[in-house]
Amino acid sequence: EAKAGGRNRAVVYEEHMNELLQLQHTIEGELREALQRDDQLSVAFQPLIDQHTRKVIGAEALARWNHPKYGNISPARFIPVAENTGLIEALGEFVLRRACALGAKAPGRTIAVNISPTQLRNPRFSIQVFDILRETGMRPLDLELEITESILLDDEHTSAQNLRTFRAAGIHIALDDFGTGYSSLSYLKRYPVDRIKIDRSFVMQLADGHVSVAITQAIVTLAHAMDIEVTAEGVETEPQATILGRLGCNTLQGFLFSGGVAEDRITAIFADKANAPERRRRIKAA
Ligand code: C2E
Ligand code: MG
Ligand code: MG
Ligand code: MG
Repeated sequence: EAKAGGRNRAVVYEEHMNELLQLQHTIEGELREALQRDDQLSVAFQPLIDQHTRKVIGAEALARWNHPKYGNISPARFIPVAENTGLIEALGEFVLRRACALGAKAPGRTIAVNISPTQLRNPRFSIQVFDILRETGMRPLDLELEITESILLDDEHTSAQNLRTFRAAGIHIALDDFGTGYSSLSYLKRYPVDRIKIDRSFVMQLADGHVSVAITQAIVTLAHAMDIEVTAEGVETEPQATILGRLGCNTLQGFLFSGGVAEDRITAIFADKANAPERRRRIKAA
């Protein structure tokens, strides 16, 4: 009986795997088509908030896919497929181009763009970035590329070279989703970054007396000692924002302030007098 149960489970598992593979295949085909058109893919921009002044100092570009039949498909679903099929190259270029077009119209604002490991491993990637900056007229200093720690883990020579090229040109590098994997500040000696972004899963747990307050404090202190700025992502409540401010986080991002918005909306937010830029202080190492 146990054996029969096992076999059934195996059959169910296989059917489930087939369904998953089928779904991946469908997404791949649909995404390939969406990339040839101009009416399904778009880029949303989520405001980045200065913790001290609460002004909007920039925005993170986030890929959006509105499918005529399936509606909005989450990046959590289609980015991994894009990464596994090579479509991330075209998708990444699309997002970068839109982000830099906005950045060119908003000098002094930081525009952050998520970069997949596949893109960074491409030796031609830095050339592509510089071409897009030149074509759009965006200043390299206003661009921030968000990478994930998996990039720091693999000892890819090309990735490291690309990162050095970007930093030499004044482009900022941010380490995204910090705290979710094997993040260690010791990598940051090998691959210097300008910012770390503390993951939402940490921010969610922040409450007076919780151990994550002490962990976040340690991360902020170490980061600042290394001349690295800290952003907290997924800030949803005022108490979270208050604690993060007390801990010295430089920038906040989350639904408390705004989700991702369309390009015309973020342009209006930038133009708002309340968000007029002021001179930002850089943190100096102690
Ligand atoms: P991420 O880079 O960590 O982006 C932050 C994600 O958290 C976004 O989800 C954003 O909408 C969401 N978020 C922001 N504030 C809050 C909040 O207060 N509460 C909650 N619950 N969520 C919040 P989104 O847009 O679904 O993107 C998911 C992930 O997909 C991104 O995580 C990023 O890793 C990836 N992604 C999105 N666009 C691109 C892209 O153009 N290229 C690449 N390579 N990856 C992308
Ligand atoms: Mg990001
Ligand atoms: Mg993130
Ligand atoms: Mg995240």
